[in-house]
Amino acid sequence: MPDKSTILIADDDIVARMALEMLLEPDGYELIFATDGPEALEKAEKLLPDLILLDVIMPTMQGFEVCRRLRANPTLADLPIVMITGFSNRETRLQGIEAGADDVISKPYDQVELRARVRTITRLNRYRRLLDSAEKLNRLANYDALTNLPNRNLLIERITQQINHSQHNNQVFALFYIELRGLKQINETLGRIEGDTVLKQISQRLGHCCDAGETLARVVGNEFAVLTQMSNVLTEQNLADRAQQWLDVISMPLFCSQHEIILHANVGISLYSNDGKTAEELFKHADTAKSRAKLQKRHGYQFFTVQMNDTALKHLVLQSQLRRAIENDELVLYFQPLLELNQDHCTISGVEVLVRWQHPDRGLLCPNEFIQVAEQSGLIIPLGEWVLRHACQQGILWQQQGFNLRISVNVSSLQFKQTNWLKIVKSILEETGFDPTFLELEITESLFLQDDKYILEILGDLRKLGIRLAIDDFGTGYSSLGYLRRFRLDTLKIDQSFIRDLFIEPYNAELVQGIVTLAHNLHLETVAEGVETCEQKDFLIKIGCNIGQGFLFYQPRPASVIENLLKNNLLS
Ligand code: C2E
Ligand code: CA
Ligand code: CA
Repeated sequence: MPDKSTILIADDDIVARMALEMLLEPDGYELIFATDGPEALEKAEKLLPDLILLDVIMPTMQGFEVCRRLRANPTLADLPIVMITGFSNRETRLQGIEAGADDVISKPYDQVELRARVRTITRLNRYRRLLDSAEKLNRLANYDALTNLPNRNLLIERITQQINHSQHNNQVFALFYIELRGLKQINETLGRIEGDTVLKQISQRLGHCCDAGETLARVVGNEFAVLTQMSNVLTEQNLADRAQQWLDVISMPLFCSQHEIILHANVGISLYSNDGKTAEELFKHADTAKSRAKLQKRHGYQFFTVQMNDTALKHLVLQSQLRRAIENDELVLYFQPLLELNQDHCTISGVEVLVRWQHPDRGLLCPNEFIQVAEQSGLIIPLGEWVLRHACQQGILWQQQGFNLRISVNVSSLQFKQTNWLKIVKSILEETGFDPTFLELEITESLFLQDDKYILEILGDLRKLGIRLAIDDFGTGYSSLGYLRRFRLDTLKIDQSFIRDLFIEPYNAELVQGIVTLAHNLHLETVAEGVETCEQKDFLIKIGCNIGQGFLFYQPRPASVIENLLKNNLLS
């Protein structure tokens, strides 16, 4: 806003204009002039003055008409208008007031009085404008422009207010954190405008399910939150029903550019004061619960639990430590021998590479403590590359000593999703000089849930290089076995759970026998994992399983130990 008040003086009479100029200029106003009605309207619209002094009698358009038009224009309707007239009769005054003028002054006017009125009106108007812009700023700071819903700021403020009230009367309340799924695809396929329309529709639906006194907020992008009213009792069942209600209204079909769309959502719930004493804490915990709901896929909603927070925090710490571990070479490779199963003597034919983390504070960590975090954070990609490179380096060292071992490396499905995965494998092979026909990659059934064509291509390219492919943990994941026919694989590793319960679970022995037969029909080599007893080994030999791996033979060990083993194995 300019620091001077602006006054538009509309009068066709130059003498009248000059008189007003001389009177008002010394008071520091910015004066603008118009000589007829249309010019007055144009300038008023353009310059939004703080006051219009309007002559009644003007050519082309009378002052009354100008006044009426100003009032009819929504952006100008609030402008203060004072009409100045040569007539002093009551009728003209009334006409002016009816046309919408705030005041009608008759000529000749009392100069002191006019100055005083002008000052009062312009001041009031500036004050009103200040309030308006403060209101606008407030809206910007506290409301979401697209949906008009309170934003995160205002939500946090309202939660804090409720916490203050609740402390006095021991009441409780809940915070629902709602995340829409599928919006990204809508934005990508139908465009952002349609995405925005969907958001508005969803926010209206959610709004219809809110009671008065509840706050529905748009937190960010595709995330909403509902703050419930305070209450003396909140039962878990009520809250679960409520969460289900959000999920149900969201998943009702939507129509958007003639497409029927169904969105889904996840809901996290946190309760005051069980799950947090501050607004930020409640908010963060509802968010954590929401992320958990997304992971678990069982219900669409989850209540916050302390364990979640612990896990989330631990994961976060672990993730940053793991990132450094990869850079600082804190990872170590262990190797577990694979033995050709034979009645008289089992010889080592290969090793499976199993990563360990020499953690600076916690000692040697097994993969179950960090592989999941590596997968969730994407760190599995540099980790996997590190493992492959070091495994090949070790392999070539052994080869140079005369041990031609097959090296089996675990590869996460995420590594296959990288577009340059094949290039990485090739460059590691070139760099280390390791013979690809001695390399086996262990992949899991989850890989086959992805796009067939792409997987077919990349698996084909790997096999062309001479690399062997093994299907790991067979029998635990994907139910359809069609992929075994569609993809050319070399080895099938029967999951250790089948071997562990071989003689415990009824039918397991038959099942394992069936798997071995099936694999052999498909010309796949079979490996039994987790062989711990002689009884298991004997059974596996009897049914023709080719290779065994397990604590009965050897535990995973560092390279130096394996080297000694190999020497003895050769000698024996
Ligand atoms: P996996 O591929 O199924 O590896 C076999 C796991 O079974 C190893 O656990 C091994 O120590 C364990 N094991 C072997 N024989 C026996 C036995 O007789 N009894 C019992 N109870 N367990 C046995 P480990 O080393 O803790 O590895 C766990 C998992 O971590 C591996 O399961 C694999 O999925 C993953 N992993 C390990 N290294 C890597 C890696 O470099 N990259 C990726 N993506 N995953 C890895
Ligand atoms: Ca494996
Ligand atoms: Ca396995």
